[in-house]
Parts: sequence; C-alpha cells; structure tokens
Amino acid sequence: MTGTETTGTVAPAAGRWTAQWKELFEEVITTGLCTGCAACVVTCPHDVIGYEHEEGKYVPFHLEEELGPANCVHGFGAGGGCTTCTRACPRFRSWEPAADTHLFGRVREPEEMSGIWRQLLLTRAADETQHDKGQDGGFVTAMLTWLMDHDYIEAAMVSGVEDDDAWKAKPVLVHNPDEVIATAGSRYTYCANPLALRQAKEEGLSRLALVGMGCQTSSPPTMWDRKAGKVSKPFVFNIGLLCSKTFDDAIFPELFEAKYGLRKSEMVKMNIKGVFQIWMRDGSYHEIDLKECHQWTREGCKHCPDFAAEHADISTGGIGKDNDWTLTIVRTELGEEVINRMIADGTIVARPAQEDEVAMKLLRTLSIVSRRRWPKDADPAPTVGVPPPKKKAAAPAPAPAG
Ligand SMILES: Cc1cc2nc3c(=O)[nH]c(=O)nc-3n(C[C@H](O)[C@H](O)[C@H](O)COP(=O)(O)OP(=O)(O)OC[C@H]3O[C@@H](n4cnc5c(N)ncnc54)[C@H](O)[C@@H]3O)c2cc1C
Ligand code: SF4
Ligand code: SF4
Repeated sequence: MTGTETTGTVAPAAGRWTAQWKELFEEVITTGLCTGCAACVVTCPHDVIGYEHEEGKYVPFHLEEELGPANCVHGFGAGGGCTTCTRACPRFRSWEPAADTHLFGRVREPEEMSGIWRQLLLTRAADETQHDKGQDGGFVTAMLTWLMDHDYIEAAMVSGVEDDDAWKAKPVLVHNPDEVIATAGSRYTYCANPLALRQAKEEGLSRLALVGMGCQTSSPPTMWDRKAGKVSKPFVFNIGLLCSKTFDDAIFPELFEAKYGLRKSEMVKMNIKGVFQIWMRDGSYHEIDLKECHQWTREGCKHCPDFAAEHADISTGGIGKDNDWTLTIVRTELGEEVINRMIADGTIVARPAQEDEVAMKLLRTLSIVSRRRWPKDADPAPTVGVPPPKKKAAAPAPAPAG
C-alpha cells in the first residue's frame, strides 16, 4: 500500500490508542519479542487469547482460528479488536518509557542500567523457617506474608509446582503463610505467574501481589500508563525477580540426567551463581558450567533486555558474596513504605547492599548484558546508554621469522 491509499476505516483521533491484536501479533509475537508473560491472555476481556503453559510453547495465540492468526473482531472499529492486549503487553512499542513514567514520573537516565531505585539493600527474613525455605534470604516469602498480615493484599500470584513433579513450575494463587512457604524457592524454568489471575477472579479477589521476573512485573505499570482500565486494578504490589534467562524443561533429561546422571526427582535445591548449582537428596553437590546449559535457553528469553526487573515495587536477586541474603532493590514509594515498616517491626534484617562491591558490579554488568540482547529494529529505549561490548584484545603479531 502506498502512503496515499487508505484502508477505508475512519482515521483515529490523534493520540488515541488503537493498536490491537493484529499489531501485537505482527510486532511482538512474530518478531521474537514476546516473552510469554501471559499478560495479554489474562487481561483479554473477551477471553479469546489462548496460551499453553508447556515446554516449547509459552506463546499466546488467538482462539478463533477461523479468523486467521492475526485477526480479532471483538471490540470497536471496522474489524478492530478491543486494544486491551496491546495496552497490557510489556514488550509492545515504547513499553519501557511508559512504565518508567507511570511509576517514577520520568524515564531512566542513560546510565541507570538496572532501572530507577530508591534503596539498595541486602535483606533476610528474621523467621528461621522463611529464611531456610527461601532461595536466598527468604525476603520474598517474608514480604508476602507481611503484606497479607497487614491487609495490603488478599492473595499473591506466585510459582508452585505440579503434584507429581517438584521441578515443573506452575502458576498458583497463594492466600496464607503456609501456602506462601510451600511455594518459596526458585525454579529456573518458565512460570507465567499472571495466569493465576484467573483463579483470583473466580474467587472474587481484587487486591493481589504479583511475584515474577521483569517480563511479568513490567506489565501492570504498562497497563496503568496505557489506561487498560478494570483489568489492571487487581495488581496492587509487584515483587520482581532478577533474571538473565529461563531454561526449557528438556534441560533436566537431556543434560542433567543424560550427561551427569542427576535425576530430577532426586534434586532438592538448585541455584545459579556463575555456575548451575544442584544439591541432591543423597547429600551430593554438583556444579555445571552455564555455557553447557546455554542451548536449553528458552526462546522467549533470547531478546529480553530486563535483568533487574526494573518496574517492580521491589526487585530481588541472589547475586553477591553471601548465599543467604536477598539483594533487594527498592524502587517505588509503596515499596519503600513496606520495607521500612518490615525493618522497623523486625520482620526482616537489612544492611546496605553497597557493602557488597561484587554484587553492585554484577548488577550493572548483567543488566548491560541483557540490554544488549534487545533487537536494534525494536523501540530503542531499552538500549539507551548501553556501552558497546569491549573489543577483544588483538592477537599478538606473529614473531618475525628467523
Ligand atoms: C527463573 C529465575 C531466574 C533468576 N535469575 C536470577 C539471576 O540471574 N540473578 C539473581 O540474582 N537472581 C535471580 N533470580 C532470583 C533469585 O533466584 C530469588 O528468587 C530472589 O533472590 C529472591 O530470593 P528470596 O529468598 O527472597 O525468595 P523466596 O522467598 O524463595 O521467594 C521466591 C519467589 O519466587 C517465586 N518463583 C520461583 N520460581 C519462579 C519462576 N520460575 N517463575 C516465577 N516465580 C518464581 C516463588 O513462588 C516465590 O514466591 C531468579 C529467579 C528466577 C525464578
Ligand atoms: S509479551 Fe506477554 S503480553 Fe506481550 S504478547 Fe507476549 S505474552 Fe502477550
Ligand atoms: S530473561 Fe527472565 S525476565 Fe527476561 S523474558 Fe526470560 S524469564 Fe522473563
């Protein structure tokens, strides 16, 4: 079509948000930007977006196949969808400036590689059970419990596991401290926690926390900025998990078991600290080089620019020299209010994260590494300020012959 032809539809008023499923499909889903976060799926008011929470899938699709994969006729306009999915998508067009502006009143400065923050802390749960069950300091577990006890939230969308497989992650809704404890710890395969919103709706719950990687926690502020309306209201507190990648479930049989004889059913804990660490039921401990794991990186993670979960109220990670503390990035006013109260009443112990220089350096480096993955032909905001990779030192000139 040339620039002078028209499609026969009425031109939208300037500034009006008209992008719908067709644009989401063409600009995010088929370009590889889609992370599989499921925000478009759970917010679709017509329930016409499908999703399979399974290995090799994790990509939304339109349920009304007779229309073709890129068409949606629900909502307004000539043949137009209702726009909720593009308002909810945290990878559609200029999502980073939208979420930044909504949460912080400004976009990040070029040097703010890990996003905008107010406080950087190392924290750990004071309660021994929460601390033991948690992946790092048990901070997320302590905070979810505290948010429920203090009536900030009614429930939280987190990652549980299948009854018959302790490492197959599935989105679940937790309502009380016992359920929170039962879902503590990290699984390194993908879990689209926003899918638990469906159960919350069925239960009539409307004040929820979302725990998730950056691909998930950027969604609520993006929706709020794009005025997605009612569907965006239940997300009242966002807890981010720092993340470089997730792995396909096939890594268990194809690498851990086939090469190292480590059976999934015998694993009791895993972590990633420069290497893939695995603890087994028989007390043995194993380290696997991350380079070996690389080929099982989940497709949806390959272009992701957000290591530091930059749009959560509080983001959490395990980098640094201490295994049993959670690196805690307090970003919003609400996040600061909660953490200050948790420190004051002794729920958590906290110290300045700047004490751990290794963690501070890693936070910046890993944020840069992730931002470099964002494609050059997509919205440029995530790559603003990203330094170019250092050139490898030139090979020494060959010694003169003779
Ligand atoms: C896939 C993944 C990759 C990560 N990568 C890094 C990293 O590269 N560097 C780093 O510093 N930190 C990373 N983290 C964060 C780290 O593992 C801890 O989750 C974080 O430090 C909080 O620790 P905690 O003890 O306070 O959390 P806990 O109290 O143990 O609570 C953890 C919460 O995470 C939820 N959860 C567990 N697995 C998943 C999942 N797959 N998807 C969504 N939610 C989940 C649990 O349900 C629970 O609510 C990653 C986490 C995940 C899930
Ligand atoms: S990134 Fe999330 S919201 Fe966007 S298309 Fe993919 S699943 Fe939907
Ligand atoms: S790298 Fe982590 S934050 Fe990014 S898409 Fe993958 S799971 Fe989400």
